[in-house]
Amino acid sequence: MVGILTKTPASVMPMNALPERFDGQALPIDLHMHSTASDGALSPEALVALCASRGLTHLALTDHDSLAGVDRAVEAGRQHDLVVLPGSELSCQWRGINIHVVGLLPEGADDELTGGLMAQTEARCRRAEQIAERLQRIGLDNALERARDAAGSDRPLGRPDFARALVTAGLVPDMATAFQRHLGRGKAGDIKSHWPSLATVVAWILGANGVAVVAHPLRYGLTRRKRGQLLDDFQAAGGQAVELVSGFQNPDVTRDLARQLAERGFWASLGSDFHFPGGHLAPGSMTRVPRTAVAPVWTHPRLQAAMGDVVPVA
Ligand code: AMP
Ligand code: MN
Ligand code: MN
Ligand code: MN
Repeated sequence: MVGILTKTPASVMPMNALPERFDGQALPIDLHMHSTASDGALSPEALVALCASRGLTHLALTDHDSLAGVDRAVEAGRQHDLVVLPGSELSCQWRGINIHVVGLLPEGADDELTGGLMAQTEARCRRAEQIAERLQRIGLDNALERARDAAGSDRPLGRPDFARALVTAGLVPDMATAFQRHLGRGKAGDIKSHWPSLATVVAWILGANGVAVVAHPLRYGLTRRKRGQLLDDFQAAGGQAVELVSGFQNPDVTRDLARQLAERGFWASLGSDFHFPGGHLAPGSMTRVPRTAVAPVWTHPRLQAAMGDVVPVA
């Protein structure tokens, strides 16, 4: 399952090498982050520079439904001697729930994925109009223009832009309340009907020779059993990996999730889901992955060439 590993003694371990298994060690890698190409605050260049200053050696830029920041991030990575993997976090739906699937894309996009991303942009546009209509009913007039102002650029709008518009208009005290009352799961602004199915986005990623990863599986409010069903359906669709660690999470829960991954032979990814400085997260900040038999996603055959040397754990 692990594929061909480059066996290098630790004494001559190359810079930018990654371990072949999780052994409880801190890792200089973050495979889930956002830039101004979606709802992140930093430009791709500023994000990569921050990653370099924090000692990371490997990262993936995973903006929502977009690869628009990837070329700039890869170029910045070259300048900082950092491995930057193209990626995107795709919105989809499974059993009426809005699920996120990260595509790690060593070769970038093919025609089908490019077409898929164009459809995602259109879906985001139509969804924004519908969210605006609904927020107008609760007193946010000109909601679409307000969200556009909050975004501060012409990128596709997301729910955080509407949340910020609600705060600016004085209708809620802060972003968290905006999501709790109006935009979070089950609320008026949580509109999923525009997104394609889980199987569709997985097919786009696989078609582009990428690895499909279930993003933050603990953040959908699922029971363990239902999470298992999500993982089964994802695997049946061809999905290969799951984020075992996303930001900070309880160690017991992480070990339990590792068991769900091991039972199914998934590879494990990890990321901070960093969006902006000044919060509780920074690039690379996340709970350590515990010692586990689950294989790191960088040992997946499709990622090995792009992510560099893999070395045995000493
Ligand atoms: P969208 O991609 O438009 O569906 O918006 C989803 C994004 O909203 C997530 O990626 C987060 O960045 C943000 N988000 C989701 N829930 C919350 C929350 N409770 N508070 C703040 N931001 C949130
Ligand atoms: Mn986001
Ligand atoms: Mn997400
Ligand atoms: Mn994310």
